[in-house]
Amino acid sequence: MEVSREIGRLVAEAPGATLIAVAGIHGNEHAGIHASRRVLDRLGRGDVGFTGEVLALAGNVGAIEEGRRFVNHDLNRVWSDAQVAALDALNAHHEHDAPIAEHHEQRDLLAAIRAAIARARGPVFLVDLHSTSAAGVPFVACGMSAEQRAFIARAELPLPSIIGLEDKVDGALSAYWNAHGCTAVTVEGGQHDDPATIDNLEAVLLLVLEAAGVVAKNAVPEAAAARAALDGRRGDLPRMMEVVSRFAITPDQGFTMMPGFRNVDYARALQLLARDKNGEIRATADGIVILPLYQGQGNDGFFWGRAIEPEGASHSRE
Ligand SMILES: [Zn+2]
Repeated sequence: MEVSREIGRLVAEAPGATLIAVAGIHGNEHAGIHASRRVLDRLGRGDVGFTGEVLALAGNVGAIEEGRRFVNHDLNRVWSDAQVAALDALNAHHEHDAPIAEHHEQRDLLAAIRAAIARARGPVFLVDLHSTSAAGVPFVACGMSAEQRAFIARAELPLPSIIGLEDKVDGALSAYWNAHGCTAVTVEGGQHDDPATIDNLEAVLLLVLEAAGVVAKNAVPEAAAARAALDGRRGDLPRMMEVVSRFAITPDQGFTMMPGFRNVDYARALQLLARDKNGEIRATADGIVILPLYQGQGNDGFFWGRAIEPEGASHSRE
């Protein structure tokens, strides 16, 4: 798939918030690119007033063109202060021929987001759009900050929102930008090649445009239908949950997740969740299994969470 770093940009005369959509930071996840093009086209028609700026950026351009998750390493695990400082130091010394493809990608993406923040005429919101290899319920993930929780609450997203997931993953794009000038969240839209995944991400973008204040509530006629469609995707899952713990694993642990869990799923106390070389891993209470590891490699066996009240989202917690 051909794509340029800037998928599209709309700037209103009237100042206001900026919404940045990042799509394809994993190069095999193209749904977010289609979804952000649709939303830019919709706003560009001119019949809906908006303020501020809407910017869509491609994440890992080289990997998108090759249809791979990444070329040399995962571009969504490199957003730490230390790694960004190292990249800035490389740039300062004009060492631009780094052999690692993702160094170039991160440098360009960094520059594009910094430029958007620098020219912003209001608060800046960032949405990182993903899809998954397995089928599953679309969901939103963010950290624990009051700004993120308030943003999620304002969007009234009917999808499950998982609070605190990003705080437990090292180097995620949205966690980094949440600490550097944006209010940022991650959205998983569904299975990579399912056309409904594009619809889901488009619907989420319409609703976060409202939550950011770029468009007035219900100014986009399709927003109500978007909310209803997403509500139908949630099934029996709670609207809001928080991560209680992460089941970290090592390659030599022999970890095997029990089959049958969805990407967000209920588990009962004492239910068998997984096995490793030490034996059975069972739920210690009723709760929610989040992102069970079924394929590939990773350091996260699964996350353990619990449902919380959506109304609590706008209040800060201890
Ligand atoms: Zn992804």
